[in-house]
Amino acid sequence: MAVKRDYYEVLGVPRDASDEEIKRSYRRAAQRHHPDIDSSDGAEQRFKELNEAYRVLSDRQRRTAYDMFGHSGVDGVGAGGFEGGFGGGFGPFGDIFDAFFGGSPAGTRGRRRVVAGADLRYDLTIEFSEAVSGVTREISFPTLVRCRVCEGTGAEPGSEPEKCPECNGTGEKRRVSQTILGQMVNITACPRCNGEGRVISKPCTTCKGEGRVREQRTIQVEVPSGIDSGQRIAIEGQGEDGPRGGPPGDLYVAVTVREHPDLLRRGTELFYELPVTFPQAALGATVEIPTVEGTEPMEIPAGTQSGTELRLRGRGVPRLQGTGRGDLHVIVTVVVPPKPSKRERDLLQELRDVGAPAVLPKGGPGLVDRLRDLFS
Ligand code: ZN
Repeated sequence: MAVKRDYYEVLGVPRDASDEEIKRSYRRAAQRHHPDIDSSDGAEQRFKELNEAYRVLSDRQRRTAYDMFGHSGVDGVGAGGFEGGFGGGFGPFGDIFDAFFGGSPAGTRGRRRVVAGADLRYDLTIEFSEAVSGVTREISFPTLVRCRVCEGTGAEPGSEPEKCPECNGTGEKRRVSQTILGQMVNITACPRCNGEGRVISKPCTTCKGEGRVREQRTIQVEVPSGIDSGQRIAIEGQGEDGPRGGPPGDLYVAVTVREHPDLLRRGTELFYELPVTFPQAALGATVEIPTVEGTEPMEIPAGTQSGTELRLRGRGVPRLQGTGRGDLHVIVTVVVPPKPSKRERDLLQELRDVGAPAVLPKGGPGLVDRLRDLFS
């Protein structure tokens, strides 16, 4: 084993740090260096080192032994339970969990190692209207499921997994040593059964002793109305089954919602830019507005200025896990004909000659007014 760093240095605490300081410092560092977060080189090693340091310094007896004898005083402590690397389903997660939720790192003692299945992610793309109304979608994905031949034990039918002779089924190895402070018990995962407490002498031929096999799973996913791109639906227990009877992981359905060709969505609100002609804006008109459900007629009042916002209330997107819907905001844009016909030009010229000069409306949606509001 390589030269070990000082545990206090690893946790960044002084030698006389209180238990509370040690705990706080460990939590902060563990969150920062968790392999799920930190992808830099050596992150896994740093995280292991951190756990090891915490395991020793958070235990009064071990800390005293470490203070007096250094690493040799606690040799073997750090390795216990941390072997097997990541993805083993036990190492860092079990330890983080223990440290964060009250249990001491030593609380893993006596627990047989059960490895949970991996979580899965499924990317699901749905239509815009489906996100508004909600939808049930059938999805199908490869996963690992409990082997039916051996019922997940991993042992060939007719045979049984046997109690590990090395650890007598406890999944751990205890080593008792006498120190100047008295008896010390070091606990490590049993190397023979990998901490599972059981060994399989005749592996199931179907799953090769894994207790699980690859299979396609098809399930129905309830997508709630109001869901938006980037949101995930968690489905408990639909991840991979764990090896040899281990509990299943979860399934996360990551949702992408297709965009609407005409409507812009921001949360529960929808926006539509409505082009109208000058006569429509000046004289008023009834126009068809595209909505999620189809189209809907809307009155444009006479004298509507370009940039005016009108609303179709309750025609937005439903609130996720709530009641009611947002609004459909209609922004009126008066469009000037880029290439008027001869007849149009004649009429426009006539209009120009009889019309009063343009004056910005009072309290209208003028750009300068808006800027004034923005900066006041
Ligand atoms: Zn099997």
